[in-house]
Amino acid sequence: MPEGNMHRDLGRLLSAQQHFFYSGATLNTDFRLEALKNLKRVLIKNADRIAEALSADLRKPLFESYASETGYIIKEINFALKNLPKWVRRKRTRSILATLPSSNYIINEPYGLSLIIGPWNYPFHLTFAPLVGAIAAGNCCLVKPSEIAENSSALIAEIINDNFDDNYIAAVEGGVDVAGALLDLNFDKIFFTGSPAVGKIVMEKAAQNLTEVTLELGGKSPCLVDSNADIYLAAKRIVYGKFFNAGQTCITPDYVLAHQDIKGKLCHAMQDRLARFYGADPKASPDYARIINRKHFRRLTGYLADGNLIAGGEHDERDLYLAPTILEVDDLNKPVMQEEIFGPILPVIEYSSLDQAEEIIARNPDPLACYIFSRNRSNIDRLTTRIPFGGGCINDTIIYNYNHHLPFGGRGSSGMGKYHGKYSFDVFSHQKAIMARKSFLDPSIIYPPYKNIHNLLKKFLLR
Ligand code: NAD
Repeated sequence: MPEGNMHRDLGRLLSAQQHFFYSGATLNTDFRLEALKNLKRVLIKNADRIAEALSADLRKPLFESYASETGYIIKEINFALKNLPKWVRRKRTRSILATLPSSNYIINEPYGLSLIIGPWNYPFHLTFAPLVGAIAAGNCCLVKPSEIAENSSALIAEIINDNFDDNYIAAVEGGVDVAGALLDLNFDKIFFTGSPAVGKIVMEKAAQNLTEVTLELGGKSPCLVDSNADIYLAAKRIVYGKFFNAGQTCITPDYVLAHQDIKGKLCHAMQDRLARFYGADPKASPDYARIINRKHFRRLTGYLADGNLIAGGEHDERDLYLAPTILEVDDLNKPVMQEEIFGPILPVIEYSSLDQAEEIIARNPDPLACYIFSRNRSNIDRLTTRIPFGGGCINDTIIYNYNHHLPFGGRGSSGMGKYHGKYSFDVFSHQKAIMARKSFLDPSIIYPPYKNIHNLLKKFLLR
């Protein structure tokens, strides 16, 4: 479509949503509950088609489709359905002496027109989970799924556009041009999930309209295995978290820092675990996904020369297959230790002291996640308090993301803003502060002319 037409059509869609938003329909809690129920119904109805689309795009295993995509979203919807009446209530707060007499409360106000831009790796989860928050908070919404997972993108658009009035919620398919045209419009809230590089573009565009943004980005998430850790448990949970969706997960353990005393044992245990999970030939396993496309396949196979192969390394471009790979890496300046891997290659780096491990982690600051396998309480406390990261696990990997009572998001280069569960409602709401003043007490000393009241103020306030 010519650029001018696209801008015009998107602009028209947004004006229609603006009109609908100002009608006040979305302020009604029952309206939001109905929309959430509608979304739940249509997702359950399409669960098998969703699994098929994910299989076509990523050969995503069925377990992973139901657990981390459809099932995850339904869990978020159920939680919102149960709690929304409580979330929307005005929250009373206390007054302070200086503002007595008054009653004080917070209204959770929808931002209004929201834009959700998603990535390709969990295409349904990462568009619909934020959408649950947008609906719960009373927003209208435009959703742009990633063009890279094309089957998923088409189904996301169908699910949304066939089941919601586009004055309220609509999906727009397309690539960088469409995303750019959307970002030229004036939204009240932008929720972006993707790479840090594009996150910067989104933030720059949002700045033109001073639009509130949430950025869910990526990074190199470390996984440290201490000398006293339970090695077999660590191996099992690291291999699981790393090779789920063939490593194409934002919070996957990007690399392992193994204490020098246990590195050999850990590598053996991980090799053993790989064979138990995926068999002697992972290519034949129905539980192992494929790389999204040739561009990423070539980028990933380029990393194979950056260290010594301990396991895997086999690859087949026609099938976009890259075996689950463990790579012993000594040189931290190699590309595999400079860039987010986002695929099934796990570098293992040896460390001898926590100081050294912290220095290595600091080379890629503010990771989205961090994982620590240890039985030493003071080491765990030291690492969890001193290393800046988005969130993580002690003695496990990606599973923390499943608990909607925990806020999910990064910091610095891994993003800003948090969602999941109640946090998704909060991230799409403005907390409007209201003070309702009473008239029966109105001390004249606060009004001009102030005379010498500042002496009294100095005495009471500056202490
Ligand atoms: P990406 O940034 O390339 O694309 C994400 C979205 O942005 C897509 O919809 C794409 O069409 C759009 N886009 C691409 N270029 C754009 C541009 N120049 N202007 C405007 N929009 C543009 O990311 P990706 O490759 O789809 O996903 C991989 C990245 O996302 C990794 O860094 C990963 O860690 C991160 N990620 C983060 C999370 C999280 O929850 N924090 C989840 C999944 C993925």
